[in-house]
Amino acid sequence: MSVEKRTPIPVKEAISRVMKQNVEVRKTQVKLDDSLGYVLAEDIVATYDIPRFNKSPYDGFAIRSEDSKGASGEHRIEFEVIDHIGAGSVSNKKIGKNQAVRIMTGAQIPEDADAVVMFEQTVESETTFTIRKPFEHFENVSLKGEETTTGDIVLQKGQHINPGTIAVLATYGYTEVPVAMKPSVAVIATGSELLEVEDELEPGKIRNSNGPMIKALAESFGLEVGAYKIQQDDLESSIQVVKEALSQHDMVITTGGVSVGDFDYLPEIYKAINADVLFNKAAQRPGSVTTVAFANGQYLFGLSGNPSACFTGFELYVKPAVNKIMGAKACYPQMIKATLMEDFTKANPFTRFIRAKATLTPAGATVVPSGFNKSGAVVAIAHANAMIMLPGGTRGFKAGHTVDVLLTESNAFEEELLL
Ligand code: AMP
Ligand code: MG
Repeated sequence: MSVEKRTPIPVKEAISRVMKQNVEVRKTQVKLDDSLGYVLAEDIVATYDIPRFNKSPYDGFAIRSEDSKGASGEHRIEFEVIDHIGAGSVSNKKIGKNQAVRIMTGAQIPEDADAVVMFEQTVESETTFTIRKPFEHFENVSLKGEETTTGDIVLQKGQHINPGTIAVLATYGYTEVPVAMKPSVAVIATGSELLEVEDELEPGKIRNSNGPMIKALAESFGLEVGAYKIQQDDLESSIQVVKEALSQHDMVITTGGVSVGDFDYLPEIYKAINADVLFNKAAQRPGSVTTVAFANGQYLFGLSGNPSACFTGFELYVKPAVNKIMGAKACYPQMIKATLMEDFTKANPFTRFIRAKATLTPAGATVVPSGFNKSGAVVAIAHANAMIMLPGGTRGFKAGHTVDVLLTESNAFEEELLL
């Protein structure tokens, strides 16, 4: 049996092949309460001004600014309080010369008033108060439409829904939100050496750690995941399982079996189901055997069985594809420059990705490998929030060098409060 020859392509080219596929972005509606993490499928247009009326940003008194002309420490001007409103109430009283309405934050400014005097700027007595400075037209007033006017596009199609987006949607009365459907994902760990998490260890066997990791990565997008049983290295049953997974889910992620070993059946499975293999070798370490195929509008991600390679494959190829299916405008990983904090002298024949801990310090970003970093490593993934990316054809990166870093985790927390 001769070993199949594979030609490596640059990672960037591999990602672009994934992203060039024709996938259908399907629109649906979800409840506002369930919309976090989805991508908007339509522009959201302001149906009214925000604020909707001139309002008071403070607790104080609404006055006519013209009545405050000439006020000073020596010449305090007195106002008579003729009404009292809280937020949500509207005063219908006519405000005459040197009259005022006691008004709370968020309340609508009475029609005749055009300025607000804060409590702290007054000396109060029972039904009157005095001020010691003149107020300008619209001083201390939040103006109708100062944030957004009717017809503005306030949220854009393709935008990820975050808590702030939800606040805007709530403002405009969206109980249902137009979003793109999220893909459902089948996760299949392949390998006759694999045991389920609950199994006792046996000679020559290891527990399936990739399956639960990939499921968790997918769930961090809020995707619905079908976690399949461990699949033995057996061609016939593997073909059946992959076919079944394709019929029940929008995409299929397998781990293991994409290499050129005697029991690596993924290449044959792709043939058997007539999938178009987009690439089966990427110029990267780890995970050069990572394979992505496409069949009838569905992705099949063949991630390496080596845990670090598997994780890297998900970050590089699955995440952008999921974003694309979800109709997102921003699909790609965030990249930063950081100062390498320890030597890394290994050669990099291909682009190397190193699980790493990036830290944003007041002086800029720093990064260190997050532990033992071979492709089979698992612990370093747990301590990583990033991957260092070293270009192919280089070696000898030293502490102090600036390197490219791909951020993999958005929730970064510090042990110390740095405020
Ligand atoms: P493979 O990609 O099938 O050649 O596997 C590469 C290496 O990853 C082997 O050492 C496997 O035992 C290991 N491996 C494969 N699948 C998993 C998995 N689901 N969890 C942990 N390690 C795995
Ligand atoms: Mg295997």
